[in-house]
Amino acid sequence: MTTIESKMDLDSATYKTLLESTRAIPWKIDWATMQFAYIGPQIEELLGWEPSSWVSVQDWADRMHPEDRDWAVNFCVAQSKAGVDHEADYRALNKNGDYVWIRDVVHVVRKDDGDVDSLIGFMFDISERKRIEEQLAAARRELEELSFKDGLTGVANRRRFDAVMETEWSNACRNKQVISLLMLDIDCFKQYNDHYGHLEGDQCLKRVAKLLTLAAGRPRDFVARFGGEEFILILPDTNETEAYKIASRCRDLIASEHIPHKGSEVGKWLTASIGLSTITPECGDEFVPFIELTDGRMYQAKQRGRNTIVND
Ligand code: GH3
Ligand code: MG
Ligand code: MG
Repeated sequence: MTTIESKMDLDSATYKTLLESTRAIPWKIDWATMQFAYIGPQIEELLGWEPSSWVSVQDWADRMHPEDRDWAVNFCVAQSKAGVDHEADYRALNKNGDYVWIRDVVHVVRKDDGDVDSLIGFMFDISERKRIEEQLAAARRELEELSFKDGLTGVANRRRFDAVMETEWSNACRNKQVISLLMLDIDCFKQYNDHYGHLEGDQCLKRVAKLLTLAAGRPRDFVARFGGEEFILILPDTNETEAYKIASRCRDLIASEHIPHKGSEVGKWLTASIGLSTITPECGDEFVPFIELTDGRMYQAKQRGRNTIVND
């Protein structure tokens, strides 16, 4: 053996040791046969399958989550054919039936004539990273949900109302569909706070919000806290008669709770005043005047002695 040969032997042995002692799993696929020429022994520790069981790219594809298989295989084959280095994240099947998130980083090796000779790459276990990413996404979703919720009552907040109103209004315009809006304001609530204290007032607002969600139970009915002791209901595809029924239900549900209200000018129990409007909007109509109309009717209900519904 010449000095150079022994040096090369030493080098390849060193390379092998180095490759097989990393956490990343090295592999090589011969392009002509689509067979594994090599896969690092670490694969067994990660996925449970012995290195000798990785024979062809089919084994690789078969040991992939069915939801990831099509795109991952198509993507990797297309990139490889185009001779482009690439990486793909997918779930690989563990022998025990679990899935492990893998990032496969692939380098395309070309022959002198430019044709693809082989693919070499590393598989990285990225399950921890994916877990953190999923936790972050869940936290983001929760935050988004919170930013649309009224902190006290749990119903939608004003911001959410604005967004939903926009959507439902354009929907009604587009489909020439009827839409109703209900504004409800608790009667003499200042006196309620004065008499029972602000914390009791808070509890009362929570109870009313809950009752309103019970009163409007269709999937697209929407309840929001409009401000202070005012609530607003969007009732898509709801005509005047049906909307009036829902308004009456709101009033009846609040009445049947028999929430004592000693400071009320109306009676012994808590009551509310309701403004109600119904419209089939034309294209180009704005919804702000519709809200103002409903607000005006609610104010009328106050003028007419409270604890009443005004819809004209
Ligand atoms: P009206 O019958 O004309 O509606 O009179 P009102 O006293 O209900 O109306 P007013 O607008 O004078 O007072 C509203 C009260 O609602 C005053 C305010 O302190 C109270 N309020 C607003 N937000 C909250 C809240 O989050 N918690 C509590 N406890 N009270 C609130
Ligand atoms: Mg008010
Ligand atoms: Mg009030």
